[in-house]
Amino acid sequence: MVQSSHSYQVLARRYRPTRFEDLMGQEVLVQTLTNAITAGRIAHAFIFTGVRGVGKTTSARLLARALNCTGYGDQPTATPCGTCPQCIAIGEDRHVDVMEVDAASRTGVDDVRELLDGVHYQPAFGRYKVYIIDEVHMLSKSAFNALLKTLEEPPAHVKFIFATTEIRKVPITVLSRCQRFDLKRVGVDVLVPYFGILLEKEAITFEPEALRLICKAADGSVRDGQSLLEQAIVGTSGEMITESFVKDMLGLGDRSQMVDLLESLLKGHVVESLGMVRDLLQKGASPRQILQDLMEIVHGLSIMKVTKTTDDLAIASSTRQQCERMVQSLSIPVLTRTWQILLKGLSDVITGPLPECALEMVLIRVTHIQEFLHEVKEDNPQPKGSSIKTIEDLLALFTDHKEFILADQLKNLCFFKDFQEGHVGLYVKEGLDTGFLREATRLLTTWTGRPWAFELSKTPGGRHLKQEEESLRQQKRRDVETHPDVQKVLEAFPGATIE
Ligand SMILES: [Zn+2]
Repeated sequence: MVQSSHSYQVLARRYRPTRFEDLMGQEVLVQTLTNAITAGRIAHAFIFTGVRGVGKTTSARLLARALNCTGYGDQPTATPCGTCPQCIAIGEDRHVDVMEVDAASRTGVDDVRELLDGVHYQPAFGRYKVYIIDEVHMLSKSAFNALLKTLEEPPAHVKFIFATTEIRKVPITVLSRCQRFDLKRVGVDVLVPYFGILLEKEAITFEPEALRLICKAADGSVRDGQSLLEQAIVGTSGEMITESFVKDMLGLGDRSQMVDLLESLLKGHVVESLGMVRDLLQKGASPRQILQDLMEIVHGLSIMKVTKTTDDLAIASSTRQQCERMVQSLSIPVLTRTWQILLKGLSDVITGPLPECALEMVLIRVTHIQEFLHEVKEDNPQPKGSSIKTIEDLLALFTDHKEFILADQLKNLCFFKDFQEGHVGLYVKEGLDTGFLREATRLLTTWTGRPWAFELSKTPGGRHLKQEEESLRQQKRRDVETHPDVQKVLEAFPGATIE
């Protein structure tokens, strides 16, 4: 059996595109380059940018071939033949006039000087001297300056091709002298058929779902996709690549547990959910990872809800049915609100002192999401700066902004002593955590555009809004009970109760 690294090399090399039209998912780049070459308007310098593994250096090598190919005469061609001595030498990385360096390992001014040493001499073998500099943003400032000198007045027989993952780190003086191409992430819809053909050529059978999971996990990178595919081929020893194998390989077993957890949370099953979370934590999952996974699923479900497809979701098919069921019963407001709660919780988990407690608090909040949304009648918060005359106005502001937990804490834990706009005097029972008041102050200040302060009193007393609500409710009930019409009904129907 072949070694993993060796056969990966084989896969990646054997299927390296040799023509522009084989570049995956980069139609704009291919069209523009083809037009320029066909019209004989070829820039002196090119820069390819995009995330890792989308084909930047592959494009650079193809362009080097296009510039030097002699298969169709003495002009560059948009369709390098692949069989002339120039094409073959470049394909085998041994063309004397095509120089490729990785700026990540050679960043200094001396490296650039050495590279450009013979720039003024005519090419020895090809039509052009081609300088390919990968990860060009890694060059030092002085190295860029040395490069710029040549770039400003390049000899006619010289072409530069740069590649970078971080275009913003490339000086504008360099950028302005390059024709720029932005390589796109390669979508699942492009990768699936491509890898399908590749596996067929390798005579390896696979379940379609297995391939889809690999392509989704590649996250737009052809190279990462090839690498995962290689892992799967080696791992299954050439047997059929199955969905369950890929699931295990990608660690998606946990993903279905996460979907279970999310479903339990959104059904409001607090105790059950906390049990599942503690189980996950015990198995070694980090609070951060749990939240991020949940967020990914919420995102996936939202996309499913609006696009009505499951293609974007990196989940196995059994879980997919569960997700489809969930999507049916969930509304976009529930999904977006859940996302917001998880996102806010993520920063608490990352920066707070007690990540596991923070995680549990966030998840408890999610279990109450349905009732929060039911309480909201209208979705228009008071405009910024609206005047707030009473403590009731202030609480309304919190419910209008869907800060139900804070509103609840203010109602239940606080005894309000005096109230002016911007200043609230109150009493909170000793020993209670008053951290929520800090958050309330911050939000009020943001919403109203003016400073707010809560002043804690040491002496008990003041209005307790929850109690007031309760006694108001009882008063109403008494009013109803003593109403003459109601009395008559109660007399006519002995044993009847008022609901
Ligand atoms: Zn050729």
